[in-house]
Amino acid sequence: MGTLCGPLNREEPKTVASYINTAQNAWNIQLLNHTFDEHIVKEILAIKLWPASTEHKLVWTETVDGQYTVNSAYHFIQKSEATQIVSCPSSSYITPSHLWKQIWKTKTAPKIRIFLWSLSHNAVPTNYNLFRRRITNDPFCILCSTHSPETTEHLFLQCPWTQHIWHHPNVQINVTAYATHCIDAWLTDISQQKGNVPDFETIAALLWQIWKARNHVIFRHHFTHPDQLVESALALTHLHITVQKQQSKQQPKTGKKSPNPNTTWLPPLQGMIKVNIYGAFPIAENLGAISSITRDHTGSLLGGFTKSVPATSALATEIQAFLYTLKDLLQQGKHHSDLIIETDCLILVEVINHERLPLWEDILPSFSNLKVHHCRRSANALADWAAKAHGRGSLSPTWASSPPPPLLDLICNEALLAGCTLFPT
Ligand SMILES: [Zn+2]
Repeated sequence: MGTLCGPLNREEPKTVASYINTAQNAWNIQLLNHTFDEHIVKEILAIKLWPASTEHKLVWTETVDGQYTVNSAYHFIQKSEATQIVSCPSSSYITPSHLWKQIWKTKTAPKIRIFLWSLSHNAVPTNYNLFRRRITNDPFCILCSTHSPETTEHLFLQCPWTQHIWHHPNVQINVTAYATHCIDAWLTDISQQKGNVPDFETIAALLWQIWKARNHVIFRHHFTHPDQLVESALALTHLHITVQKQQSKQQPKTGKKSPNPNTTWLPPLQGMIKVNIYGAFPIAENLGAISSITRDHTGSLLGGFTKSVPATSALATEIQAFLYTLKDLLQQGKHHSDLIIETDCLILVEVINHERLPLWEDILPSFSNLKVHHCRRSANALADWAAKAHGRGSLSPTWASSPPPPLLDLICNEALLAGCTLFPT
């Protein structure tokens, strides 16, 4: 078994064997999904694992019977050269070692670092790259009507759709001010800028989200609004940085990483249901938006709703988030389940636990086992995102049954950061 390329973090798997469940002689799909992009995972899963007791022997992979022939070697070399032409940037630009160091130290998920590494090698399978390898007949971009080949630089920098992302008020990068003829030169330039541009973690998250959004158009026929994409990237970056800071504080003391209940969402115990609620105020004059998100111990989304509510204060909005959640749970017949309602509004928790208000006095006795907990805002990121997205009108009414890509990403990331090993990937 080989060693994985790139100086990954200390706590991350470093060998191929780490990704194999030896007892079952099968790939550890959960860990693969945590580390690699979807299309790489598919390729890895296509590799058949042989029982550990099988005798090892050298085989030549370019012939059917595994025997070396000069003819097959000639074709192999020709094929390799053709691939190299595609995978090298078009210019004579030599990527400085600074960029590789920057990529591997980026505070983000391992799979995003590996994606950046592939991107810098122009090895991401864009339509143009696939066309050059004769895998597809269509080299064009599907995100715009410019009939441009979907090169790496077009997709991630120059496409009119992508330009909306770089011009977003919370990003504001004038990509044309940098070398955009090859992506690694652009990444090198941008990683050395200080002050006026977002940090490298945010840029990594934006590039990753662009790739995912492009794939959603192709494979799910779902078009992501650039504003949604930016929000999702910023939320993910915040989440990763918060978690990593917390982990690095903990590691010297405990020697192992574990999700911090103060800063990250934690799943309920098996058999319990956790509902995160949030009230965004104001979204318009005397109007707030509420959200309620229900998940189980695997981190899977069980349901949820968002709603505009008349309100005159943030607390009034939070109270309505709580009341509508109780009504929703009752309607769904979940009032006899073991329930935790979690909010980042501390006053709301104190009011609920200490004040006997008629608002909920009528409805609370219907619940057999309900607890109301306080959490930090960073542990309530999903409900926060959903309420605000509803407030902007950018959330479809069917989001709970068919979550849009940014929401799906947040759900997956929170589950993985919380260590939900059973989370369906
Ligand atoms: Zn385009």
